[in-house]
Amino acid sequence: MIRIYNTLTKTKDEFKPITPGKVTMYVCGPTVYNFIHIGNARPMIVFDTVRRYFSYKGYEVNYVSNFTDVDDKIIKGAIEENTTSEEISQRYIAECKKDMEAMNILPATKNPQATQEIQGMINMIQTLIDKGYAYPVSDGTVYYRTRKFQGYGKLSHKNIDDLEGGHRDIKVTGDLKEDPLDFVLWKPKKEGEPSWPSPWCDGRPGWHIECSVMSKRYLGDTIDIHAGGEDLIFPHHENEIAQSEAANGAPFAHYWMHNAFLKINNEKMSKSLGNFFTVREISEKYDLQVLRFFMLTTHYRKALNFSAELMESAKTSLQRITTAAELLRERMASVTSDEMTAEEEAKIATLNQFRSNFEEAMDDDFNTADAITAIFDIVKFINTETDADSSKAFLQAIHDEFYQLADVLGIILEKKEEVLDSEIEDLIHKRQEARKNKDFARADEIRDQLLSMGIQLKDTREGVKWQRV
Ligand code: AMP
Ligand code: ZN
Repeated sequence: MIRIYNTLTKTKDEFKPITPGKVTMYVCGPTVYNFIHIGNARPMIVFDTVRRYFSYKGYEVNYVSNFTDVDDKIIKGAIEENTTSEEISQRYIAECKKDMEAMNILPATKNPQATQEIQGMINMIQTLIDKGYAYPVSDGTVYYRTRKFQGYGKLSHKNIDDLEGGHRDIKVTGDLKEDPLDFVLWKPKKEGEPSWPSPWCDGRPGWHIECSVMSKRYLGDTIDIHAGGEDLIFPHHENEIAQSEAANGAPFAHYWMHNAFLKINNEKMSKSLGNFFTVREISEKYDLQVLRFFMLTTHYRKALNFSAELMESAKTSLQRITTAAELLRERMASVTSDEMTAEEEAKIATLNQFRSNFEEAMDDDFNTADAITAIFDIVKFINTETDADSSKAFLQAIHDEFYQLADVLGIILEKKEEVLDSEIEDLIHKRQEARKNKDFARADEIRDQLLSMGIQLKDTREGVKWQRV
């Protein structure tokens, strides 16, 4: 039985899926105006691990995570670089996907982009207006009528009257809202900004409506799990609930999961504070497997302080794990007997215990820190309980358990020297550039480099084609 700490109920609730054997999960993704920082990587790694554990337990997981590709910061970036918002967001979506691949994060079932879902947003806003939950004002802005939604505050456990008390003083003259608590669903365009036509004005959606719409479209009105960093509880997730439940007339998500912050010098790591490292920067010093492992050494609901010492310690721990995997492979390559001995059979009971410890830890609100302890028990077991005389069946049983459990955490035990598609495309692009600049020596050099990686290029009329050789 999997128990999940649910922000909505503030307790660890038993997981009961809407459809037996299936899990629907929506994770709020990054705003793509720059490289992602390692704080953004925490929810990605944590919820990828949650997803992997559900799969391990036999569930079919439908995992949706968005990219917010319309936002003030993207527009600002586009103006600074004298380019379009689309160019900026497409660039950083591609870079983010590279980082995710290197952190061994499984591709989502779907990564919707806000700009591709505008019609759905207009439809939901219209439904909210029709039901009296939203209203347009004279400048074309559409607001959500917060007080009309009975359950407002249920996720963040805030009292709506306290909210108003805190906000009353910020009501500015000229503001066309009915109530300071009302939030924006649609806003009029400003010169030079991306915009879409709508019944109210040419403009763009507010941030919160994106997730309500994408979650509904790809996962349905009610989903099992909605997740993100704890800074999203209020107002983002609270507003998503208000929008979705009012529009759909159904509960939005049964379980709300939130990861705690990644900190640096005990302050939240964030772009606005400027105290961040990008995942790309860290990848220059460490294999991103180390970053992943580091994130999982602490329970996801505990704050985690980033430091060089902890990264070094994660690196050493990971090495101990991969070294044990290597030893196991060596032993398997030189076995002399097939069948398990009686002594080995007795030892298997210990191995089974490690698996139950692992599952018990993960069942308890995904306690990866304790699950890692079970992995180290297997490492120790390999180092002390196997030798050159171990049977094939015995080694195979250890191998299966070790690899399966490591895979739940996304730990790669065997580094395949496989060249990633993205790496190949990158080099091909560089070669094209070199050719354009008539630097044929460089172009040939890149072709040879690719060949040495086992990739053969073919220049055809339709462009460059490649194949693995
Ligand atoms: P953003 O691009 O700021 O919307 O953030 C994308 C995701 O990263 C959200 O789920 C945030 O809650 C999460 N996030 C941002 N900063 C941190 C941090 N320092 N630690 C943990 N999660 C974070
Ligand atoms: Zn969201």
